[in-house]
Amino acid sequence: QTDRPDLVVVGSGFFGLTIAERCATELDLKVLILERRYHLGGNAYSEFDPETGIEVHKYGTHLFHTSNEKVWDYVNRFTTFTNYQHKVFGKFEGQVYSLPMNLALINSFFGKSHTPDEARALIAEQSSEIDTKDAKNLEEKAISLIGRPLYEAFIKGYTAKQWQTDPTELSADIITRLPVRYNFDNRYFNDKYEGLPTDGYTAWLERMADHPNIEVRLDTDFLDEDVSAEFKGKVPIVYTGPVDEYFDNVEGRLSWRTVDLEVETVDVDDYQGTGVVNANDPDVPFTRVLEFKHLHPERTYLPGKSIVVHEFSRFAEPEDEPYYPINTADDREKLLKYRDLAEKEPMVLFGGRLGTYKYLDMHMAIASALSMYENKLKPHFADGAELKSGGVDA
Ligand code: FAD
Ligand code: UDP
Repeated sequence: QTDRPDLVVVGSGFFGLTIAERCATELDLKVLILERRYHLGGNAYSEFDPETGIEVHKYGTHLFHTSNEKVWDYVNRFTTFTNYQHKVFGKFEGQVYSLPMNLALINSFFGKSHTPDEARALIAEQSSEIDTKDAKNLEEKAISLIGRPLYEAFIKGYTAKQWQTDPTELSADIITRLPVRYNFDNRYFNDKYEGLPTDGYTAWLERMADHPNIEVRLDTDFLDEDVSAEFKGKVPIVYTGPVDEYFDNVEGRLSWRTVDLEVETVDVDDYQGTGVVNANDPDVPFTRVLEFKHLHPERTYLPGKSIVVHEFSRFAEPEDEPYYPINTADDREKLLKYRDLAEKEPMVLFGGRLGTYKYLDMHMAIASALSMYENKLKPHFADGAELKSGGVDA
């Protein structure tokens, strides 16, 4: 075929789109994106509900935040951002608390006011039963940082639901970031830049693909035999699908958690007063409730209606959407074997959260794609350097 593309990108999430956009715009390459879903954009994709005008994040709420200047400059070429700042609340035993743990939560949980120093002394005393350096699992680590009462209310039940695993069997590193703020700051993210795309995620994602050199082929699975036969070994490929699937699961499947999203339109203007409320009680089956209209208070909506989502977490079966890598010791062993295979695969680079089996926030997926472009694709296409795989160090 004479019109064979210069580069094939498998998957149209932020990783694949960033690679395609850079190669098309900077190097004038012809890029073909293959996407097995009916839409582009990967998990950041959203749709406006025609009845209510509410933007629904189809794969769970996506909040953009970054401290990376390069990423911030790059994303601003395709969208402007609102000044939304994410806040999360948590419900426990009939009361609602302000997360992450801060002075407001400590005061309402213990039923009295504390100065910052008083709260610090209280938590120091409550967490003294375990020394952080001796903590052997998530439970011990959390108790050593925040004390048993806060752990039992806000972490134990939520974590057990989210991971379907008892916190004593989870690795202590999951909870490294468990800040307690001794002030009333309840912003969820600490990053320098934060906001939501003004006209929605899909408009942003589409603008990245809007280039005469980029073709997006939807409903096309690269792993279908006739599709891979057309391109494998014939043109350079950036593959952002699951690495185990690429190799036909020869080393066994990597394990993932998935989330079931129960979406419903409710007949109230405002269901919960904010975007995200965690369900911290262990006996409530869902982990959290999302109400999308609060992410964009600047928009106009149909009165008397809202859209809410209840999230239920569980182990992913082969046909489910893989969302969070579980990363057991067994997974890590398999991953090393897949990395070896990936390194030997000629003309294919593996990237993105599925291709590297890593949880990547959007800004991390974009940063990682920009670095693959600079360090591997540009040297290859612009200077004729050999295309070296070697996985991605996200
Ligand atoms: P993806 O977006 O998953 O894109 C991969 C694409 O490849 C998919 O479209 C898939 O259909 C396609 N594909 C796979 N296999 C094939 C194949 N064989 N052939 C063709 N196409 C294929 N990040 C944040 O920064 N903030 C958040 O608040 C946030 N919330 C999240 C909530 C959830 C529930 C999840 C799961 C993720 C969240 N993220 C968030 C992370 C964000 O979704 C990722 O950073 C982003 O999706 C990474 O992009 P990607 O291109 O690597 O992967
Ligand atoms: N977590 C918790 N209670 C909460 C919020 C978070 O125990 O109210 C723990 C839980 O183990 C979770 C981890 O902190 O997996 C990370 O929280 P985050 O909100 O970042 O979870 P995500 O949005 O990635 O699911």
